[in-house]
Formats: sequence, C-alpha cells, structure tokens
Amino acid sequence: MISFERVSKRYDNSHDALREVSFSIDPEELVFLTGHSGAGKSTLLRLIMLMERPSRGRVVVGGADLSKFSRRNIPRHRQSIGVVFQNHKLLMDRPVYDNVALPLQIAGFEYRDIDRRVNAALDKVGLLDRVQAMPMSLSGGEQQRVGIARAVVGRPAILLADEPTGNLDPQLSAEIMQLFVDFSQVGVTVLIASHDLALISRLRHRILTLKDGRLVSGGVSIDAP
Ligand code: ADP
Ligand code: ADP
Repeated sequence: MISFERVSKRYDNSHDALREVSFSIDPEELVFLTGHSGAGKSTLLRLIMLMERPSRGRVVVGGADLSKFSRRNIPRHRQSIGVVFQNHKLLMDRPVYDNVALPLQIAGFEYRDIDRRVNAALDKVGLLDRVQAMPMSLSGGEQQRVGIARAVVGRPAILLADEPTGNLDPQLSAEIMQLFVDFSQVGVTVLIASHDLALISRLRHRILTLKDGRLVSGGVSIDAP
C-alpha cells in the first residue's frame, strides 16, 4: 500500500532529512515509525501526503508512483489519506459535528451522506453523545478522538498519525492506540509516528526506526522477497 524505494530528502538548507530509506507497508498493516526528534519522521509522512517531494528515490502509494502526480492531482490524493496530528488542529469555535463534517463538505458530499458518515465516525471513536459539544469543553483525549473521527470520516484507505498521543497520559494513550488498531483491523493501512517506545513496543506491531534520516530497523516486511 505504501512503499519507499531508496528515498532521500534534502531540504534547501542542504540538510539530509532522509537518506536512502526503503520499506513497504502492506494493506491493512499497522506500522509504527519512531526515532529521536529530527530523525525524519515528519518528513517521511509529508512525502506520503505529497506535502514534500523526494530529492531521490521513489514513493509509491496505493500502486501509484507519486512522482507522476501533478499539482492538479494532489487534492484527490490527500482525500484518500486521513491524517491525525498531535495538537488536533480542531476549529475551537465550532461544535464537534462541524469539525468532523468539514472534510466531507469540502469534498462536496450530500447533506444526508455527511450526516450518516459523521455519526458513524463519531460512533467508532465513542463520541456520539458529544456531537454538539464545543471542543473547548472536551478533555484532551476526547479532542484527540474528534481529530481521529475527522481523519476517518472520508473512509480513507490510509491513516497517518504524527505523535497522536503526545499530550496524553499513558491510559488515554493506550486507548487512542487501540482505536488505530481497530481501524487497521477493518482494512485501513495505518502508519503512526511516535516516540513513546514503552507504549508502541507493547503493541507488537512492526516498528520502523529512523536515526539521522536512515532507516536502521524494521524496513523489511515479513513477506517481502
Ligand atoms: P522528526 O519528525 O523525526 O522530528 P523532521 O522530519 O521534522 O524529523 O526533521 C528531520 C530533519 O529535517 C531535521 O533536522 C529538521 O530540522 C529538518 N527539516 C524538517 N523540515 C524542514 C524544512 N522545511 N526545511 C529545512 N529543514 C527541515
Ligand atoms: P456507511 O453507512 O457509509 O456504510 P459505516 O457504518 O460502514 O458507513 O462506517 C463508516 C465509517 O467507517 C466512517 O465514517 C469511518 O468512521 C469508518 N471507516 C473509515 N475508513 C474505513 C474503512 N476503510 N473501512 C471501514 N470503515 C471505515
């Protein structure tokens, strides 16, 4: 579903954020991405979202070589990927419902489909009873659940998360990770950047480890040739 073939990324300031990174992630797999601050985790996620282009190498997502995508194709590519951020990026002055509905409104869905999907997404993250709440009145864990509902409401094939438990205590972090596990079990490919090694090593999924832009472990899928 996602593959990197000897991908390097050098930013304008000539810093090598990624060096010859190769790995592949199967559909329905859940994989963690870890490494110290500055190791290149966010850069790797941004390449998948086409927010950056590699300097060398090839990124293939859902069978498509991303280098073939022109600027015009980027919005459609982004709609096939759900993204969860550490700081939620919620609209604080709009109720939970509006926050989750937003991606579907932008994509031009009909009102009835929006309503059905928003409710389904909020149900999956256990927040159906907070549909009309303002994000400000929710706990950090609940806010993160809203962020996850918004990421999956378009039923993306791929879910990316960048430090999704960064601000949460261990109990809430484990609950949030369990939600990602649940989505992978219904067919979503999930890639989660996290430096919470204690948490992610308990979950027994593959862990990609970056060090100074190099992939130092986890790069080989079990059923790769
Ligand atoms: P991580 O997410 O693991 O903390 P990043 O991918 O954010 O790592 O950063 C990897 C390296 O690339 C760091 O040294 C960072 O300073 C550098 N970097 C990240 N984004 C940019 C950018 N837009 N311009 C220049 N350098 C960047
Ligand atoms: P529908 O009524 O459209 O069939 P479902 O009850 O199957 O909806 O659930 C839709 C919700 O499923 C989405 O809003 C989202 O929360 C979640 N979801 C996201 N991606 C997937 C997926 N790949 N497979 C199944 N459910 C998904």
